[in-house]
Amino acid sequence: MPCTESPRLRIVAVVSLFASNTVSQDLPLVVVAVERAVDRSPDGLTYALPHALSHLTEGARVEVPLGRGETPTAGWIVRRLGPTEDPGIPREKIKPLIAQDPSGVVLPAELMQFARWISAYYACPIGMTLASILPAAVRKSIGRVERTLVDLAPAPVGAAALPKITKRQQHALDVLATLPRPIELADLAEAAGYSSNEPLKRLVASGHLIATRKTAVEAGFIARAGNIAPAPTPTAEQQAAITAISRDFGQFAQHLVFGVTGAGKTEVYIRLLEECVRRGKRAILLVPEISLTPQTVGRIAARLANQKVAVLHSGLTEAQRNQQWTLLAEGGADVVVGARSAIFAPIPDGSLGLVVVDEEHEPGYKQDSAPRYHGRDCAIRRAQLAKCPIVLGSATPSLESWMNAVERRISTLHRLTRRAPGLNTPKVTVVDFGEERRMARDRRISLIGPTLREAMQRCFDDGGQVLLLLNRRGYANYIACSDPRCDWKLTCSECDAGMVCHVDESGATRRSYVRCHHCLAEQLLPKNCPDCGKPVTVFGLGTQRVEEELTRLFPSLVEGDTLLRVDGDTMQTAQHFHDALERFGNGQIRCLMGTQMIAKGLDFPNVRLVGVVSADTALALPDFRAGERTFQLVSQVSGRAGRGERPGRAIIQSFEPETPAIRLAATHDFEKFATQELEDRRQFALPPYRRMARLILRHPGETECADRAAGLAAELRPFLGPVELRGPSACPIARIAGKYRRQIELLADHPSEISRVLAEARSRGLLKLGEELAVDVDPLNSV
Ligand SMILES: [Zn+2]
Ligand SMILES: [Zn+2]
Repeated sequence: MPCTESPRLRIVAVVSLFASNTVSQDLPLVVVAVERAVDRSPDGLTYALPHALSHLTEGARVEVPLGRGETPTAGWIVRRLGPTEDPGIPREKIKPLIAQDPSGVVLPAELMQFARWISAYYACPIGMTLASILPAAVRKSIGRVERTLVDLAPAPVGAAALPKITKRQQHALDVLATLPRPIELADLAEAAGYSSNEPLKRLVASGHLIATRKTAVEAGFIARAGNIAPAPTPTAEQQAAITAISRDFGQFAQHLVFGVTGAGKTEVYIRLLEECVRRGKRAILLVPEISLTPQTVGRIAARLANQKVAVLHSGLTEAQRNQQWTLLAEGGADVVVGARSAIFAPIPDGSLGLVVVDEEHEPGYKQDSAPRYHGRDCAIRRAQLAKCPIVLGSATPSLESWMNAVERRISTLHRLTRRAPGLNTPKVTVVDFGEERRMARDRRISLIGPTLREAMQRCFDDGGQVLLLLNRRGYANYIACSDPRCDWKLTCSECDAGMVCHVDESGATRRSYVRCHHCLAEQLLPKNCPDCGKPVTVFGLGTQRVEEELTRLFPSLVEGDTLLRVDGDTMQTAQHFHDALERFGNGQIRCLMGTQMIAKGLDFPNVRLVGVVSADTALALPDFRAGERTFQLVSQVSGRAGRGERPGRAIIQSFEPETPAIRLAATHDFEKFATQELEDRRQFALPPYRRMARLILRHPGETECADRAAGLAAELRPFLGPVELRGPSACPIARIAGKYRRQIELLADHPSEISRVLAEARSRGLLKLGEELAVDVDPLNSV
């Protein structure tokens, strides 16, 4: 098929001819932020708009000459100067910009305003922020094709007869007359038996055919609607939330929907989305990447069958992503459902009417590269800019959102306390694993204790399915000398961290190797201790080891091929994961075992037992959020049980069964947990009571790293004001991939104080983001 040069590309070529001319006095001026990470001109650089591009506005992606070599560089028009405005530099020094970007992208003004806020709040240059907002697929116009369609010309009127044509050309016209029209030029050439399009182009030139051109982004099918189920009648609690939130359409207002798992939060969202569209507005629904299974998307698409739904997530092909983005930009979708970055959906100005963030507590909403934004916090800001309501939902709200609702009352709390009709609250049992091990007669049983094993057996006998969680990949995470007198332990040569043993079963023979989960370095598992020569042993937990034990305890699972391990090693693409869930959903898989990938959002009615192999993995983290994470994980995974008519059960193994996070998660008492945890945070002056920013310095030299961190801290101190500076100190993992890491923490009672210090530091050129410096505002990660 022909993929002809687009008209936009031709404009580019023409404009480039003028680009070298000197700038005449009357050309309009614009401020352009380049995409490269330079922060030396945080507000952008001034360029002139050549006549042919004088229509370009703020939000247009362009190419500008940069530096002495005038290197063509991608950037964004962030502002047009007024006709009388002083650019601050002499006119003759202002260069004309080279061209509009071939993608033709112009971001809506609201999105530009949003990007400016992200840039300032997360201390990331505006050009870099804009670059990360625009999907690469859109920038590269992946999937965009231009097609030429042809049709028979109407019969000529009067004397204006058409020139004579050859027999062969007449044949093409005869063929066309039998086909549905208009038809693509290349398809007609093929149908007429031509080897090229040229004869047909001559027919267009001579007036026998009329040609039209059509540009479109083409991609495969995306949001497949599930079975159209009748809409359930909302419960009284659901209806109360829907009514209250609906009253706020047309203005900014924050709402928190706190509903136990299975209480039907999705039904509340769907009703609100429908109401928003009914009012002629558009909506964004953010869901964690992990729940963007065809199952969820299909269910939402089925319920919103009368609305146009766009989908944005990592499982899309590049062409699909471009197609969905373009659809949104052109106003062709009413609702967008997507992961974190869908908060940057190019909704046309003035039309955003509702933003919903499901599972708002999910750490996956935080981006771990610059700009290190939090999708939930950005969603609140975006709603504020669009003057529309924001709805956050969770069964285990983040303490930030809980505090905003319960203590500060800046968001309205809606409780959904009852599971939807037909769903039972799972009975949760916490097993003291240390005690079980001491009681065990069979010394080999190490990861799945008798209580969990018996419950699994009963569930299988009964025809049920089991979900088994262990939040740690690999085989074992501790490799050391077997001689207690020797203290050798395997650590990564490039990181201050231990290595994890993995078993490779893909080849003919089973092979053990070790991998560093920080720098991904690998080596074979040493047989003997390099210090004393005694054999090496491996301890600790990992999903591979659980799998091994399951195959021993339940041989029938292996025989029937009904056991599946789901973790980052086995699920390398979103497609693998989707396939795994499909096999579990249709009952082929009896036992799904894996990391937190399986803990969330999955809704399979036949899961009657959920087992947590160790609830302690998150508690061991060097992080003040360890308790919160543990509570979330245990409650979320327990909520997967009993979603059908049969009651569900969850068994949690722990060496510390009395830990409040575990005990309260087992009794489904979020409110008590949140109250206690907030009290602790208040006492230790930790988030959410104080806001934090973390500056991480990285350098291959230990001394240089320390010197730079000390230097930066010294430069920050004069303008800290009420902001507290802690450090510099070594990061909890003091070296990763051969680079030393030191951190400076900034703490303040109000986020604006931190923003002020970061803005001042940027304007002094102290924060050049890159390999050697990362700025993390409201960090979730403390490693
Ligand atoms: Zn490493
Ligand atoms: Zn040794």
